[in-house]
Amino acid sequence: MPLDYQKVQYVCAHYQHILTIILFCSINTSALFFDFSVAPATEQEELVSTKRLRLATSVMSDGSMGTSKNYREYEHLSNILRFFFKHGIPDAPEHVTFTPVHGKRTALVDASNAGTAIPDCDGIYTFTPRLPLLARSQDCAPVLLFDENQTFVAALHAGWRGAVAGILGEFVRKLNTEHGIDPATVHVKICPCLLPCCFEIQQDVCDKVLENFPKTAIGKNTREQAVLNLVRILAFQASDAGIRTQHISNDWECTSCTKNNNGSYRYFSWRRDHTRGNNMCSVIVLL
Ligand SMILES: [Zn+2]
Repeated sequence: MPLDYQKVQYVCAHYQHILTIILFCSINTSALFFDFSVAPATEQEELVSTKRLRLATSVMSDGSMGTSKNYREYEHLSNILRFFFKHGIPDAPEHVTFTPVHGKRTALVDASNAGTAIPDCDGIYTFTPRLPLLARSQDCAPVLLFDENQTFVAALHAGWRGAVAGILGEFVRKLNTEHGIDPATVHVKICPCLLPCCFEIQQDVCDKVLENFPKTAIGKNTREQAVLNLVRILAFQASDAGIRTQHISNDWECTSCTKNNNGSYRYFSWRRDHTRGNNMCSVIVLL
């Protein structure tokens, strides 16, 4: 049968039109959900593997890492130790953690704090090797920091309140003014947290965010609800404080909706399950 060239031309033009629409939609969805100024975490992991430090975040299948108050109960402590072992993190003498209050205070810790939880702060940092720092979270963002000279490590906790208060930017400036650490040498890993796909917010939160951050920190989902991009807020303040864009990374895995290959959820999520006490942990240590 001879080819009907007019028909072929029509079909091609039709498909080209559809392809244009798909491309346009995907670019716009990406603009809402992804921030290309944040590097993929794999690049940073390659760097970390060559340095004298370790960092890792647990997943639901590692078990609950408890809270800063109850983690010495057998189940939680054994989960923590198993997780440390899996990632080559020494627990000697013991790790340091903290009790977050959704503020922006950070505390310097050393070997004298080993085995304790620092009260009323949202971040700890140390210049002491072999002292793991541990941040617990569900949907809030744990933020791990280190510098290229392996002088210090830090573990912060940033929910929307702490992020909007500027915890990360303020901490980077403190490192510079109080400890002489050049922000250009600092790397930031924003660990898994609630992403815009699941982070609907109300008008009062929108107003607070827009007081200090660009409009791109907030988007709209398919239900026309405002959604917060916590990673973008953190990346913005890190780069505003002098950290190089290519030194800021995130896995882009949402704690509420990311699933494993077998269909089970990968992370604990308050937004999804409303269960207290089941936390992941993010850990960083100088070796
Ligand atoms: Zn999600």
